[in-house]
Amino acid sequence: MAGPELAREADGHGIDVVFPDIARWAAGNTELPYVWTFESGRPGPHVAVQALTHGNEVCGAIALDLLLRDGVRPARGKLSFCFANVAAYHSWNPAAPFKSRFVDEDFNRVWGPAVLDGDRDSVELRRARELRRFYDTVDYLLDIHSMSDPCPPLMLAGARRKGADLALALGFPAHIVVDAGHAAGRRLRDYGCFDDPDDPRTALLIECGQHWTAESPAVALQASLRFLRHFGSAGADVLERYLDRREAPRPRVIEVTESVPIRSEAFSFVWPQDGSLAVVPSAGSLVARDGEREIRTPYDACALVMPMRRRARPGDTAVRMGRFVG
Ligand SMILES: [Zn+2]
Repeated sequence: MAGPELAREADGHGIDVVFPDIARWAAGNTELPYVWTFESGRPGPHVAVQALTHGNEVCGAIALDLLLRDGVRPARGKLSFCFANVAAYHSWNPAAPFKSRFVDEDFNRVWGPAVLDGDRDSVELRRARELRRFYDTVDYLLDIHSMSDPCPPLMLAGARRKGADLALALGFPAHIVVDAGHAAGRRLRDYGCFDDPDDPRTALLIECGQHWTAESPAVALQASLRFLRHFGSAGADVLERYLDRREAPRPRVIEVTESVPIRSEAFSFVWPQDGSLAVVPSAGSLVARDGEREIRTPYDACALVMPMRRRARPGDTAVRMGRFVG
């Protein structure tokens, strides 16, 4: 493995969290490894919180490990906790911290029927095909992620109104992104009924912050608690112990209008990226150069969502551009 590549990958990012030993959760209590489902015996929805859709995004695993150790049980309906791409998590190597996102392919790009029902095979597809029957029983899913670069937490609500409505009702985090996902493949949050506008079942994807900051697990925990509270799934005791009741700013919805793909090896941002959610005041402002191509903002008050500042390669999404709505 090339030394310079490792040095570049680790550049600028400390690892400020302890990766929990999740092997204790391997057995699960369903027929699926690393899936825990608890029944309240009272009517109510099946609410699920998931960690490790991406193997190096540890914040969700820290939150779920805490809730499972605490013995959280649903106040109504069913409550599940799922660790998804555990094979990738177990491949974690702090010397190459970006490598354990997945083993063979991105678990979060395989959720279209052609891929799931096709004859291709990979570590991630095997896990997706076994977890699919679990997701088919879930009414509301919170899928916990984190980001390569520092960025305020974002709730990715998908393209349907029901996603944005649910995110607004949670009231956290402060930015909700309405977008249609990736050309490279369907996300879990857009799988099946979750993306059907006529079906109440809904999934949200939260990006909690940078992968290995101390803040991201706290964001993951607060988002999980608000998700459970919204559906009446959380008992008063667990909310009392862990929920941050300070008033949060009212969330704003950003509608992504375009994704900017990287086309050349010579891509660079011109607009400064300082780890905040940049809002470019004026239409026509130069944001980036991609070889000869200039990338400019299409409208005033354009939000630059999840700019990819490192490891950018042709074919990657450099940034999404969005406008504030509502
Ligand atoms: Zn992720």
